[in-house]
Amino acid sequence: MSDTFKAIQINKTDEGQTVGIVQLTDSDLMDGDVTVDVAHSTINYKDGLALTGKAPVVRTFPLIPGIDFAGTVRTSSNDEFKIGDKVILNGWGVGEGHNGGFSERARVKADWLIKLPDGLTTAQAMAIGTAGYTAMLCVMALEDNGVTPESGEILVTGAAGGVGSVAIAVLSKLGYSVTASTGRTSEADYLKGLGANAIIDRDELNGKPRALGKTLWAGAVDCVGSTTLANVISQIKYGGTVAACGLAQGMDLPSSVAPFILRAVKLIGVDSVMCPKPRREQAWARLAQDLDIEKLASMTNHISLDEVEAAGSDILAGKVKGRLVVDI
Ligand code: NDP
Repeated sequence: MSDTFKAIQINKTDEGQTVGIVQLTDSDLMDGDVTVDVAHSTINYKDGLALTGKAPVVRTFPLIPGIDFAGTVRTSSNDEFKIGDKVILNGWGVGEGHNGGFSERARVKADWLIKLPDGLTTAQAMAIGTAGYTAMLCVMALEDNGVTPESGEILVTGAAGGVGSVAIAVLSKLGYSVTASTGRTSEADYLKGLGANAIIDRDELNGKPRALGKTLWAGAVDCVGSTTLANVISQIKYGGTVAACGLAQGMDLPSSVAPFILRAVKLIGVDSVMCPKPRREQAWARLAQDLDIEKLASMTNHISLDEVEAAGSDILAGKVKGRLVVDI
């Protein structure tokens, strides 16, 4: 067992933020009752914001970024986890205010960990990552609100990204007919391979939103926010539901109350970070069951720790297709 381990660390200096690979020891880790040998992490949109410093995601310095990891328990003083258990961590402020997953080793609170579901490897769990687990929370939000495959077409925005790709794959496996909205129409074959029934150019959802548009969708998973989400809401059928999880276009929402009060449209917010543990475990169990592992492989690329910083810029630039796993 090595006493030092390799990690990415973000520091703040007078000149701004620096990012580098460092050798650390256990004393550099933060409080927690479980230490994990990290096998895989992944790049999420929020990791891009942290690595580039484009938004104040990192709240303490120095910090190991990485909001996700999967690995094997190395030490534990908590009865729920024993040495050798395979575990997953998503969110809870890890990679923001607590040292995260771009590291060979992590120490966290046991309450934040869930056991790796049967049927998934640590690499597959990180191919899913927060993005995929959020996609599942969005699908569950549609289901909870009565949207069934018989209800009609489902729209997924930000389709070629991580959340969008997993949402399409899960929805199509569950029998929903899915339209994918993307700025990368050249990726139509990729999106159809994941199960999309139709592709639209995201510009179609970028005009000035009308209070009430032509009703097209029984439900939607929105990764984009802003004008796109406002247009989506205006096109939802009577009683339909939008699961909103993202802000890739922006944080604003130039919408009107008309769809809510005249069409009983429901806008459901989806948060992965503080989502209670029972619902997380439910989402992960559903992913193990309802996500086609071959489709997951088709949307996943692997990178090393050395490539993480550049990948952070790429995901913000919308250049990452599907999911990026970091092999630690
Ligand atoms: P990705 O970067 O992988 O995907 C985002 C996609 O949004 C892009 O691939 C692109 O899709 C589309 N997009 C990007 N910029 C714009 C734009 N200006 N206008 C319209 N569409 C755009 O990120 P993730 O899939 O990992 O995350 C998606 C969103 O969900 C992010 O905003 C992220 O912060 C948020 N998120 C929220 C979580 C929560 O807990 N609520 C958890 C995880 C993610 P295309 O190329 O197909 O057009």
